[in-house]
Amino acid sequence: AKAAGRGALRFFEIEMDVAAQARRALELDLRHAMARGELQVYFQPIVDLSTDRFAGCEALLRWKHPTRGFVSPAEFIPIAEETGLIIPIGEWVVGEACAMAAGWPRDMRVAVNLSPVQFKDPHLPMRIIGALSRTGLPASRLELEITETAVLQDSEATLAAMHQLQHLGVHMSLDDFGTGFSSLSYLRTFPFQKIKIDQSFTRDLGRDPGALAIVRAVSAMGKDLGMHIVVEGVETQEQLDLVRREGCSEVQGYLLGRPMTNEALCALIAPEEPA
Ligand code: C2E
Ligand code: CA
Ligand code: CA
Ligand code: CA
Repeated sequence: AKAAGRGALRFFEIEMDVAAQARRALELDLRHAMARGELQVYFQPIVDLSTDRFAGCEALLRWKHPTRGFVSPAEFIPIAEETGLIIPIGEWVVGEACAMAAGWPRDMRVAVNLSPVQFKDPHLPMRIIGALSRTGLPASRLELEITETAVLQDSEATLAAMHQLQHLGVHMSLDDFGTGFSSLSYLRTFPFQKIKIDQSFTRDLGRDPGALAIVRAVSAMGKDLGMHIVVEGVETQEQLDLVRREGCSEVQGYLLGRPMTNEALCALIAPEEPA
């Protein structure tokens, strides 16, 4: 049994080695992905439930690897964060998202995800100001999505950066609400205008009364705090009906639109709703 155990351990070590090598290879490729034009920003529409019109879009990064095809952000964003590559890549995403949003036929907002690592960069507010002035996008049309992790990691620096951005007129959303070690005190301390309820709750709406209770409670709390509630991952009409009934402000999910290229988005919004 001992020998077998040792064998299993060795097998495990080899597995680890293979995984580490694959990761290293991906990291090397990621270093060149931006220069090689393999990165692209997609946009997923967000619908305002009070008007049933597109309120804006979330910018979602896509990497088309030359041999592996599309690599999931869930796989490469952590690598970008560990290597610091998220700083240049994240700045590029902000620039691309602002430039494209400035060219949209309607005044929709663009929401960009910021990694906690980007908040450790003292130049973050300046980089964002630069992107806004280069592209001419009004600050009020930019939203930044921040997870609890950023708020937790270096709350002093993060709070200072968020206040600077808030003074410019940039809006901020608390992303993936309910998945981390949420403390409701963040909602008072940090200048968030929106809470995005994570798709894990949306998925269970309609079959788990607990999920509905949470959406209901967060929606009521948001209203009292003067914050908008965005529900992510809406895939069915039933989910949409439920969150509408609970008074949520905005919805996002495959039912309303998948992430798409800027070209596809412009084709979608231009003909039906001219500026
Ligand atoms: P997120 O910020 O929570 O983004 C929402 C994710 O849910 C996206 O996955 C989106 O494609 C997916 N989604 C949207 N609607 C539905 C739906 O109805 N059902 C299901 N099952 N999924 C839906 P994606 O694009 O794979 O991105 C994954 C994560 O990677 C994002 O989660 C975000 O944390 C990160 N990410 C993506 N782009 C960026 C970026 O530019 N910068 C940073 N720092 N992180 C990014
Ligand atoms: Ca997000
Ligand atoms: Ca999210
Ligand atoms: Ca997420």
